[in-house]
Amino acid sequence: MTAHLAASTEHYLAQAEEFGAHNYHPLPIVVSEAFGAWVTDVDGKRYLDCLAAYSALNFGHGHPVLVDAAKAQLDRVTLTSRAFHNDRLGPFLEGLARLAGKEMVLAMNTGAEAVESAIKVARAWGYRVKGVGPGRAKIIVADGNFHGRTTTIISFSDDPDARADFGPYTPGFVSVPYGDAAALAAAIDDDTVAVLLEPIQGEAGIVVPPRGYLAEVRRLTRDANVLFIADEIQSGLGRTGATFQCENEGVIPDLYLLGKALGGGIVPVSAVVGDASVLGVLRPGEHGSTFGGNPLAAAVGLAVVGLLETGDYQRRAAALGAGLRARLDALVGRGVVEVRSAGLWAGVDIDPALATGRQVAELLAERGVLAKDTHGSTIRLAPPIVVEAEELDWAVDQLEAVLAELGA
Ligand SMILES: *Cc1c(COP(=O)(O)O)cnc(C)c1O
Repeated sequence: MTAHLAASTEHYLAQAEEFGAHNYHPLPIVVSEAFGAWVTDVDGKRYLDCLAAYSALNFGHGHPVLVDAAKAQLDRVTLTSRAFHNDRLGPFLEGLARLAGKEMVLAMNTGAEAVESAIKVARAWGYRVKGVGPGRAKIIVADGNFHGRTTTIISFSDDPDARADFGPYTPGFVSVPYGDAAALAAAIDDDTVAVLLEPIQGEAGIVVPPRGYLAEVRRLTRDANVLFIADEIQSGLGRTGATFQCENEGVIPDLYLLGKALGGGIVPVSAVVGDASVLGVLRPGEHGSTFGGNPLAAAVGLAVVGLLETGDYQRRAAALGAGLRARLDALVGRGVVEVRSAGLWAGVDIDPALATGRQVAELLAERGVLAKDTHGSTIRLAPPIVVEAEELDWAVDQLEAVLAELGA
């Protein structure tokens, strides 16, 4: 282990509090190093990372293959802008398109940008291909959604923290109850260009829709000539035991939105992936990004695609997830009200009479497990897929101990 920095945890916390905008409420842990599923703080204390940066670290911290790809690219060329081609972009685009079984990729940086890009593509497709009247395009979303933080995206959020005081809001969106295919069917009309959904709602607390829902969405959208856009930014790329959660449901959307793990935990890389009949509507000058598809991002993204091509991570997430689920189910009635999961991704509802999710997350951190609460009483567990089964067991032991400590 390298020498620790002189400053204390308190120093760093005070500095961030004074000079950083207060748009987050992080746990009071100052990370200085990490490898695999483990992080080390400035005092040398180690924690098992059971959040994995909201699935951006599916392959763990410092994955040697990804770090090597980044290091090699740092010495060659890191940025060209899209005014020119670069020799990493083509291989990345082809690799990702083939992995997804689609024809085309639009490379961006953050997840929110992928969502914004898909909204633009869907609207342009609606006007140019479907024949929707000017300015009338409508996109259907689901209650409880989380698709990012830009002004347009928060316009169709129903989370008051995300939305209030940030209007005026972008029109053109209609929200229906998540998991309710009949409500979705009723909302589709001639102006509907797309349905935008998370196959599992992550920020909402790992909300898994009823089996068959996504297949029904696919049938309804196909019949009505409406695009189905699957936001797999958090659910995709191995987390749920498949390359895409849609795959687990036997569904192929028109557009996949990818981000988070696509950048290997090293650089922000996002993408819209679809067929030429949809993504092909974009013409030069209509959309872009200075950093989108840069050589460093493309080199890392290509290495991520390489890791996923083997299927090893997907299988590992499924196997580890089954063990995790069995352990968590045993806690129901003992401080846990409900467990929802898919692959190595679990939402654990803590009995609100016992403690808030935040309190449980703080007690877990004291015991060396990093997890994050969401929506008051839910703890989300999403460790890097490289975690060992014994480590995962140990993490659940800590949760069990915390619940016992709280009197469960
Ligand atoms: C995180 C997330 C986003 C936004 O990604 P950013 O990189 O934070 O902009 C969008 N959709 C889903 C489902 C996400 O989980």
